[in-house]
Amino acid sequence: MLRIAIQAKGRLNEQSLGLLAEAGIVVAEGKRRLVVRAEGFPLEVLFLRDDDIPQTVAMGVADLGIVGLNEVEERGFPVERLMNLGFGSCRLSLAVPDKVAYTGLDYFRGRRVATSYPNILQRYFSERRIDARIHRIEGSVEIAPAVGISDAIFDIVSSGSTLISNGLTEVEQVLHSEAVLIGTPDLEEGKRREASQLMFRFNSILESRGMKYVLMNLPEEKIAEATALLPGMRSPTILPLAQKGWCSMHAVIGEKELWERIERLKAIGAEGILVLALENMIR
Ligand code: ATP
Ligand code: MG
Repeated sequence: MLRIAIQAKGRLNEQSLGLLAEAGIVVAEGKRRLVVRAEGFPLEVLFLRDDDIPQTVAMGVADLGIVGLNEVEERGFPVERLMNLGFGSCRLSLAVPDKVAYTGLDYFRGRRVATSYPNILQRYFSERRIDARIHRIEGSVEIAPAVGISDAIFDIVSSGSTLISNGLTEVEQVLHSEAVLIGTPDLEEGKRREASQLMFRFNSILESRGMKYVLMNLPEEKIAEATALLPGMRSPTILPLAQKGWCSMHAVIGEKELWERIERLKAIGAEGILVLALENMIR
């Protein structure tokens, strides 16, 4: 049976379970053990610290894992990166004290940089021939410059408020990260098939995000014009109304273009427009 490793607690836990739930896979809360058999799919869920997920997947103890790209890149274990999951966005950035007049990467030559991500940083500096002194520390990296441990930091940034409250300025964005699905390289045939079924579900969930289902009443002679505005997946669905000369048109549309299209549809005579949430979209 396929086994997936997810974070036991922390920032990715809830959304990892949420994604599984949207895919119809329920992991019984309450009986939170290390391994739990899920319902709705032949799947075991292994709860781990995020640090351990890349190695567990590389070794094949778990076949799949949900973890931040930052951890995957830092640990460097051989895993297959299967898909981005659209949550847990953050970046790994270099930051210096506000008082520094930063003009470029040369600032870091010979300087001490504190980080929990020494491998990613070392790679970044080596590629740019910067010989900085990297100090590995776990946790509270942001206080390192203030207490004199380092001249700069390299850490996770999302809103930037932690940097601001510690008198630091973000100067270089090194890696953009989000939660990713990783897999053991060379999964055996049966598990590979199960993994692609799971990915099929995840993909339809991600694709349906930001999509809406719209329906409206439309004079029949406007069908061609309205179809150009609202092409839907293959084409919109047209159903007759009880009143002659009118029809109901249904289609899926991206949230971003929704309002602009609705205005144009109204302008050609559409009325009674309903916009509904879309749960899943299977192309
Ligand atoms: P664990 O106990 O599992 O080792 P952790 O403390 O290492 O947990 P969390 O703080 O729960 O990790 O973060 C997990 C992941 O969430 C990070 O590796 C990163 O990919 C992502 N993330 C998104 N935004 C942030 C943020 N603002 N700060 C830290 N991590 C973030
Ligand atoms: Mg961790």
